Amino acid sequence: MKALAIDLGGTHANCAIVEDHKILFSKRLDLDSAQVLGSVLPLFTSSFRELMSEARFATKDFAGLAMSTCGLVDSARARILSSPKKWDDAPGVDFVGWCRREFSLPMKMENDARMALMGERYAGTARGCNDLAMITLGTGIGTAVMIGGKLLHGKHFQAGNQGGHQPVVFNGRDCTCGGVGCAEAEAAGWALPQIARDWPRFRESLLAKEPAINYEILFRLAAEGDAVARAIQDRCIHVWAATAVGMIHAFDPEIVIFGGGVLESADLIIPFVQAHVNAHTWSPWGKAQIRAAELGNDAGLLGAVPLLSTN
Ligand SMILES: [Zn+2]
Repeated sequence: MKALAIDLGGTHANCAIVEDHKILFSKRLDLDSAQVLGSVLPLFTSSFRELMSEARFATKDFAGLAMSTCGLVDSARARILSSPKKWDDAPGVDFVGWCRREFSLPMKMENDARMALMGERYAGTARGCNDLAMITLGTGIGTAVMIGGKLLHGKHFQAGNQGGHQPVVFNGRDCTCGGVGCAEAEAAGWALPQIARDWPRFRESLLAKEPAINYEILFRLAAEGDAVARAIQDRCIHVWAATAVGMIHAFDPEIVIFGGGVLESADLIIPFVQAHVNAHTWSPWGKAQIRAAELGNDAGLLGAVPLLSTN
């Protein structure tokens, strides 16, 4: 099956032509200057026309268009229900109408964590697994769950997506969701700079000299022996391990996949989380396996074929 695929984030998007397990052609769009999502649709149209011309394909060659996007998605109607502040107009955008008008193709949409899960199950580290959870570590912590081969959606399309807002410290840091001590507030990219600044002896750390603090800098300074960076890194990995334990007890997966750029340090993260899960989950059948995502940024695009194949 050939499909058009879009992976939409807050600052950029990838448009691609995929065929089964492969991305044949792709184009990255920088959306830093775009203010509303409505203004981005013509960019998608022209990108796909370019890609199809380059590939010598016509719209009739494709089964449909699949879109992965951050935020809360009504996958039954292919509508964004709520998205990061930047795309305020997203809930009013008629993607299905746009796709029919421009390409005469059906379209489906899914939340990015669910698309990453489907991509990893179809072409990555969890091929053939019917019961799995995905945890994506980035600016936020995105999660998704599949049970018995079916993605979990729930009445309001939130089921399985809110793992980043599990409380891991009942009297912890305030979260953007209104919660307290959520996994995101304790160890997501957006919270990291403040977590670092509040850490005892922060001023003595090389972190204090960094203009912006992110996972990459944290892990690098920890590897170079900075004691504060090492302590914060350890705490983040503990929080992610607690998040996995919560997902396992809530949803009974066989595999929990961790994705996101910080998994470049998978050698540090995965063995720790697996040991923590082995020690702290109650599962008489055995232990859920913790795995690193294999597909990186391609997972959302490679979720296109399985999404379009789902009734
Ligand atoms: Zn929260």
